[in-house]
Amino acid sequence: MTTTRSFQTGLVHAPTVVIAATGPGDVAAALALARRDGLEVTVHSTGHGLCRPCRGGLLLDTAAMDAVAVDPRTATVRAGAGATWADVTAAAAPHGLRPPSGSAPSVGVVGYLAGGGLGLTARTDGWAADHVRAVELVDGGGPRRVTAGSDPAAFARLRGTGPEPGEVVTAVEVGLLPAAGLVGGGLVRVLGPSDAPGDPAALHAWAAWTADLPGAVTSGVSVVPYPDAPFLPAHLRGRRVLRVGVVSTAGAGTDALLAPLRAAVAWDDDTVGPLDPRDTARVYAEPDFPHAYLGDDVLVGSLDPAGLDAVAARTGPMAVTGIRHLGGAAGRAPAVADTVRGRDAAFLVNVLAPFDGDGDGDGTVGADRAWAAVDGLLDGFAGRAAAGAGHPSFRYGPPRAVSHRR
Ligand SMILES: Cc1cc2nc3c(=O)[nH]c(=O)nc-3n(C[C@H](O)[C@H](O)[C@H](O)COP(=O)(O)OP(=O)(O)OC[C@H]3O[C@@H](n4cnc5c(N)ncnc54)[C@H](O)[C@@H]3O)c2cc1C
Repeated sequence: MTTTRSFQTGLVHAPTVVIAATGPGDVAAALALARRDGLEVTVHSTGHGLCRPCRGGLLLDTAAMDAVAVDPRTATVRAGAGATWADVTAAAAPHGLRPPSGSAPSVGVVGYLAGGGLGLTARTDGWAADHVRAVELVDGGGPRRVTAGSDPAAFARLRGTGPEPGEVVTAVEVGLLPAAGLVGGGLVRVLGPSDAPGDPAALHAWAAWTADLPGAVTSGVSVVPYPDAPFLPAHLRGRRVLRVGVVSTAGAGTDALLAPLRAAVAWDDDTVGPLDPRDTARVYAEPDFPHAYLGDDVLVGSLDPAGLDAVAARTGPMAVTGIRHLGGAAGRAPAVADTVRGRDAAFLVNVLAPFDGDGDGDGTVGADRAWAAVDGLLDGFAGRAAAGAGHPSFRYGPPRAVSHRR
């Protein structure tokens, strides 16, 4: 196996020992070895959330633990630590079921759930954490199965804060959702050239539209200033593109709910229609190839108009802004205690910037300028300065050379 196979290519693991675990027995043996030899353990799944690469310790790769078993009778899935949401979606679809997955099917199930999991239908179905039934893990004490009944404090911590050092999740049991009647896609508006300020009207129209929207509709907006690069399709090259990603459980009622947004903007493309859960990558159309990126986020109660203006107008090094609409079921108190951040927020604003990863793990080449772009945009939204202002799942890449005030 390779130790550099990560979605995040800007940081590279350099372990002393690599163990490709095939089950809890291997994990227990790896932890025992690490204890004996004084090695720090880093768990590696897909590397989407890689922030701290392994340096001389023990890298535990979970990729081989990717078994997925759906029980259609109870509408649950048991997914191994190496499974991705694409794996679960494929296994659930024949039973008319879908998981509470997010925008990118290639994200790992365990890493996503550790942060709580902001799903495509979060306003209808709540956070993915709400659907977790059990977490199987191995720690210094051996293997154990954690549920709300067996260990309420650990169950809450594992769904939001995530595993502690020395804890390795080996599998999770998650409730599945009905797949039928899902509607979704993207509304796209080209705002103009990337190197000139764009018109913020479409961004404001989306924000206004979210105001009285029922929980049946979950949406987010992204503004991507594409570089003038030859590998991009001609219609994106050098253009600033706004996309509203929408997923609705309102079925035939979706068109009526979307009507004000469709009327407010002259959209260049509109792909909202019946949505197969295996095809949800088209909703947010995020890049599906490994690359070097960093980013951060802020949870807010409302969207500052000036912050939105700045997102549309900003020029300079590439920075992608994504805003997810929260509230609805994502704003309800959980039935089973958890540690998910963001239930009291109305929006999650995250900014992501590609950088020149030089592979040595210190993230210095190009990262300073990329962080400045990220912070410049996020600072336009009130509440940024508060401790714990962001959601941990949307913080990416190497740390800043100079600490931000957060
Ligand atoms: C393109 C993209 C889209 C995204 N979309 C969403 C979204 O819609 N909603 C959302 O909530 N999040 C989203 N995320 C964030 C994502 O959920 C986090 O980055 C998550 O940490 C990725 O988990 P992973 O297992 O894929 O990655 P990894 O980087 O492999 O793991 C992430 C962290 O979890 C730890 N870990 C992984 N497996 C285990 C284990 N078995 N035991 C103990 N620790 C483990 C790792 O050590 C690492 O610290 C997105 C990220 C990207 C890059």
